[in-house]
Amino acid sequence: MEKILQVRDLHVSFSTYGGEVKAVRGVNFDLHKGETLAIVGESGCGKSVTSQTIMRLIPEPPGRITGGEIIFKNMDLIKMKETEIRKIRGANISMIFQDPMTALNPTITIGEQIMEGIRQHEKVSRDEAKRKAIEMLSLVGIPNPEIRLKQYPHQFSGGMRQRIVIAMALVCEPDVLIADEPTTALDVTIQAQILELFRDIQKKTGVSIVLITHDLGVVAQVADRIAVMYAGKIVELGTRREIFYQPQHPYTRGLLQSVPRLDMKKGDLIPIPGTPPDLFSPPVGCAFAARCPYAMEVCDRVYPLKTYLSNHHQVDCWLQDERAKKLVSTY
Ligand code: SF4
Repeated sequence: MEKILQVRDLHVSFSTYGGEVKAVRGVNFDLHKGETLAIVGESGCGKSVTSQTIMRLIPEPPGRITGGEIIFKNMDLIKMKETEIRKIRGANISMIFQDPMTALNPTITIGEQIMEGIRQHEKVSRDEAKRKAIEMLSLVGIPNPEIRLKQYPHQFSGGMRQRIVIAMALVCEPDVLIADEPTTALDVTIQAQILELFRDIQKKTGVSIVLITHDLGVVAQVADRIAVMYAGKIVELGTRREIFYQPQHPYTRGLLQSVPRLDMKKGDLIPIPGTPPDLFSPPVGCAFAARCPYAMEVCDRVYPLKTYLSNHHQVDCWLQDERAKKLVSTY
């Protein structure tokens, strides 16, 4: 499968009064053409920082990319100047956020906003931009797009506003769409409709999607592959089936057990005890060790090596690694 985006050993830190927070600590993944890769984890695990770093939206300072590469079309986005990355942003890689109102200007009609996005990246006439805006609004399921083009954001419901934001993100036909908690602010029915829209748009346009979410229910509906993040690292990565039916990392299993499902009986729902580690001075070994019921001595001392369980399925956990036994005997 063609790789559209490659993230290699990405490290991102933030300077604070308390010291340096190591928010992303060596993240690696590929995004394939036409797939949806979900990055899941608790808040503060580094998933949003990872996605914002791809778009180079991390405020520098206090943020700092301390290492790694983000390869898109043979270019390293990290090495690009702001003027160069601005051409990529929106045109090749687009992003949508949780709250559609932050992306929409309440004082300008949605038609003008969509057309402005088009004309920033493409040299087209006003009529051509309008035609494209109408086409995009109907693609995302806005009825009567010619009329609605003249309306302001407050004249739309929350779900409709998110559809408009999706239209704005897709208007320049990007290769990659990054969606950061795109349905969190919406009620469940609208959420399902927006997820359906993502699937639909992907079929029609072939766009590759990185979906950032804390919600495994969302992931179950749309993701092809899932990366589970904990304390700034991807601890397990696999297809949706592998992560949901053969989870190997104790944290992934904990996440799955802590999400309510219809087939669950009373007492099946088990929250993960404890809290994530302090990322001012992250542990040298497995960051989940303090919360892990299977932790061994080696876990505290050495970060687990990556174990490959199939072509797609990989996990960072000593439980899966024969080499752990040798290391245990060394200590
Ligand atoms: Fe638990 Fe050790 Fe695996 Fe970490 S490496 S998840 S502490 S068993």
